[in-house]
Amino acid sequence: QSKRSGRGRYTFYDPALNPASDRLLHLEQRLPKAIVGHELVLHFQPKVRLDDYRIVGFEALVRWQHPEFGLIYPNDFIPLAEHSGQIIELGDWVVTACCRQLADWQAAGLELVPIACNISAKQLLDDELPERIAGFLAASGIAARYLEVEITENSLIESIEVAGHVLGKLAGLGLQIALDGFGNGLSNLSHIRSLPIDSLKIDRSFISDIRNSPDDAVIVSSIITLAHNLKMRVVAEGVEMLDQLIHLKTAGCDEVQGYYLSRPVTAIAAGQLLLRSTLAPT
Ligand code: C2E
Ligand code: MG
Ligand code: MG
Repeated sequence: QSKRSGRGRYTFYDPALNPASDRLLHLEQRLPKAIVGHELVLHFQPKVRLDDYRIVGFEALVRWQHPEFGLIYPNDFIPLAEHSGQIIELGDWVVTACCRQLADWQAAGLELVPIACNISAKQLLDDELPERIAGFLAASGIAARYLEVEITENSLIESIEVAGHVLGKLAGLGLQIALDGFGNGLSNLSHIRSLPIDSLKIDRSFISDIRNSPDDAVIVSSIITLAHNLKMRVVAEGVEMLDQLIHLKTAGCDEVQGYYLSRPVTAIAAGQLLLRSTLAPT
């Protein structure tokens, strides 16, 4: 505010020159309130097994229901939360909300499938994270195998030692670990050898043109072979069309996720999908 009122004096920050940063500043300042004030919501996108089209999991994707700006997507505020350190509180909120969702489904008598949360680099460097997650699970009476964490290779760069230690503890608790956006980061194959990874998620950039690009098709089938030889499951992200799904099924991919079968949906819609339990291509 002092920056805005001090017209002409503080020249390093000028909203007229960069109107977007005005909004960013506002969002960053309001985020703590959003976390405690019920402005964050989770949407859930199913992961579907290609053998039988069963829903075998959901990925939780956070959105910010801002009273003025409407629904804001994570790419617009997760980087702010990472920058300010609020990602720790936000991440805890996401895990708690996933546990609560699982507990609600369990209480309603639905057969549970794991929910995956996306975990940022900063969270992976927090060695108290596993204890807190264990506490959230215990408080909601949910078995650890129903919680999955999705990490990216980029989040391992800062300290592979600490991140590896945290991941080891999470795996020790019984959580599932997925490597997200595989192939798109600074891929280092020693990561998938040394870390307790249960599944690889092939980045959607390799899926979008899989029918026309022989290179992409070869990369995808190589990732599938690699993962299977290492006893990991493979999930293809960003499947938007039936022919991509068919290609992936033929190539031996285990699971798919994408707009073709379902967009991320509200908790209520996710519960209805879970009750139906399959999501076949039409
Ligand atoms: P991600 O983990 O790779 O999640 C997949 C993103 O792709 C989601 O975007 C999803 O809506 C979108 N998507 C799914 N299927 C398709 C498709 O068929 N086509 C296309 N074009 N897109 C598809 P969203 O929800 O905007 O999330 C973006 C990123 O934000 C996520 O990428 C993840 O890195 C991050 N994120 C989301 N929720 C959280 C969270 O709770 N915590 C943290 N730290 N990061 C999160
Ligand atoms: Mg993800
Ligand atoms: Mg992804």
